[in-house]
Parts: sequence; C-alpha cells; structure tokens
Amino acid sequence: MSHEYKGRNSKAIHAGFDPADHKGAVSVPIYQSSTFAFPNAEEGAARFAGTSSGPIYTRLANPTVQALEDCVAQLENGCGAVATATGMAAVSTVLLSHLRSGDHLIGTHPLYGPSRGLIDKYLSRFGITATWVPAADSAALAAAVRPETRMVYVETPANPTLDLVDLAAAVKVARSARIPLAVDNTFAGPHLQRPLEQGADIVLHSMTKSLNGHADVVAGIVVARDPAALAACRDAAITFGMTMDPHQAWLVLRGIRTLGMRVERAQENAWKIARWLETHGAVAWVRYPGLKSHPQHELARKQMAGPGAVLAFELRGGVEAGRELMNGVRLITLAVSLGGVESLIEHPASMTHKGVAADEQLRQGITPGLVRLAVGCEDYEDLRTDLENALVRVEAAAETLG
Ligand SMILES: *Cc1c(COP(=O)(O)O)cnc(C)c1O
Repeated sequence: MSHEYKGRNSKAIHAGFDPADHKGAVSVPIYQSSTFAFPNAEEGAARFAGTSSGPIYTRLANPTVQALEDCVAQLENGCGAVATATGMAAVSTVLLSHLRSGDHLIGTHPLYGPSRGLIDKYLSRFGITATWVPAADSAALAAAVRPETRMVYVETPANPTLDLVDLAAAVKVARSARIPLAVDNTFAGPHLQRPLEQGADIVLHSMTKSLNGHADVVAGIVVARDPAALAACRDAAITFGMTMDPHQAWLVLRGIRTLGMRVERAQENAWKIARWLETHGAVAWVRYPGLKSHPQHELARKQMAGPGAVLAFELRGGVEAGRELMNGVRLITLAVSLGGVESLIEHPASMTHKGVAADEQLRQGITPGLVRLAVGCEDYEDLRTDLENALVRVEAAAETLG
C-alpha cells in the first residue's frame, strides 16, 4: 500500500487500495466469491494458521471488504477495522466482544434508540447492567464508575438534541478506570471528528450515513486503536455472522471517495440554514454546534473540525406545527437517516422517539416541536425557499386554530 499522502481527502480517495495489486484496476474489483482456492495443501494450512494473509472464506475476510476496512482505519487513524453488515451490527460487535455477565457499562443519553434498546433489553438478559448519564454532564459520567464497570459508551454529537460529550473528559474517566471508551462517531464522521486521535479506544460507525452518503446501502464498521481490541471485535463479528458482503463494501467505498466534498458542502448549507432559522418567527430556538447559541459551542470548536450537517430546531407551535412542517416541505424529504447528499427531515416526538414515554422524552430533550434536519448537498437557496414556504403553512395553520 502506498502512503504518498497525508490529507483526509487523499486518504478517502486512495487508502486501502493499490491498483498494482488488482491488474491495474483503478476502482477496487468486487470479489464476488464466497470461498477462495488454495494453490496447495501447505498454503491452505498457512492461511488457517495465520502465517499467510491470503483469503479463505468471505465471512472471515474478503479483498473488497478489506479495502474498505483499510480505508476507514486510515481515515480514523486506527490500527485496523472490521466492516459489518449494518451499523447496528457494529454496535453489537463492540458490546458483545467486550462485555460479559456481571459487567457494568456507562452510557450517555440521548443515544441512538436501537443501541439503547440493545443494551437495556438484550444485554440485561445476560447480566450486563448499565447506568445512563446526560451526554453533556461529564461529572455524572465520572461519578457513575463502579468496580465492575467495563466500558464507557458514548455518542457525540447526540441524536437528536445535538448535545456533545466532552471526549477529553470521557477519556480521563476511562483511562483512570482502565476500561475502554467506545464512541459512536456516526454523526460527525471521520472527516470532522476522530475520537481515536483524542484518546478513545474504539470508534464505530453506521456507514449507512455520511461515509456511504447516497442513501442506497446499510453498513457499519468498527475501528480500534490497539490490535487486541480489534482482534476481539473481528472474532465476535465473524462468529456472530455480522460481517459485510463484498458488493456492499464496494458501494460504500465508492461513496467514501467524495466524503470530504459532500460533508463540507452539506455543512456549509447547514450553517446558513441554522443562522437563517434563528431569525425566523415560527422557530423558538435552533440547536447547532456551529452557532454561538449552542451551550457547548467552544467544546465543538475544540474537539470537532466542523459542526457537521445535522441541526435541530424547536417550532413554537409544538406537535401540531411539527406535523404541519413535515407535510409542508417539497424538496426536503420526509425520512429518517442522515449524512446523505439529499436533505432529510423528521419529527422525533411523533416518529423516531414516539415509543419513548412523554416524561422520558422531555428528560432526553425531545420537546414536542423539535425537528431534526439532516442537511444535504442541494443548493442553499432551494433549501431555504422550501423551508420558508413550509413555515408559512405552519403559521397559517396556527392562525386557523386560533
Ligand atoms: C443509523 C445509526 C445507527 C445504526 O445504523 P444502521 O446502519 O441503521 O444499522 C447507529 N448509530 C447511529 C448514531 C446512527 O445514526
């Protein structure tokens, strides 16, 4: 593998792949094969013994998937990566490889709903307990450590409130307890935030979001700082059957080639939309790490290379206004997910977080008029016009109701 580059964009375009290893192919070939022939018995034995790195069987390793793993490992500055069938498979890989009966985990809230469900509903069956602390409360995180605590698991920025976890503070807690800090880095992505460089031990992604970026694949990945953690994750992913298929890997790699351009353009749009929404009469407040009004704006500047492309805002009209806005947009698509070239909007109180009890919703910062906007790469003027027209509808509906 050549390393004639250092920058994020060069890595996204070249890392993990050398055309000379693939008959000169400039795009990594899709090795659509479940199994790989050994030239002789000795080589077969060497591959199983791990003394030869050639492929054996696609659930264990596949050259196309390895190209993707090498690329993301370099983007995150990890020692290696294991690609998984979905983002949730990446979450499962991290938790199942590192925790056992009797262990305790500290997690931050709000957390991606299914990740929280995996811990509360399934890991609890195997005797693993959890303490949940607010994302922005570093003191509560430090205070939650017990003798049996075996992992700190955080998401920053958190979804959908855009609260940040102070990574340096979380690293300190994990280091002094001698336990790993795992970070779900899906929201920011490696172009804007690299937790391993800041002292985290494991990073995971739903590559369904910005890494792939085109709303056409579900996929995940785990990146580790040290080889022992990586080996544990790889073994769990292989044994539980959570590894990735080569065609999926090829699509994600194609998406990653333009990661920097997409993220920077979407972020520029998000920044403009956030500033404009702050001045709009139908909007009570806007939450975006790039705005000075974000309570952790300085922390965002410290630990992120940019505030990203997801923002949240509260409509004065509450739940009804949320519904009206969802039905009022035309260009912006009413759908969950984020990090794609297309802008997506959703209303957590009636959609992603409807299953969370009302008082728990408020505890997690999910207010009735909260809207999550995952900004894409369209033209800013078109996005603003679409929101402006939809907000006119919201205000008209409020007046009719009196
Ligand atoms: C989407 C998402 C996941 C789950 O990823 P899938 O690819 O849908 O399985 C996990 N964490 C975060 C923060 C996400 O946004």
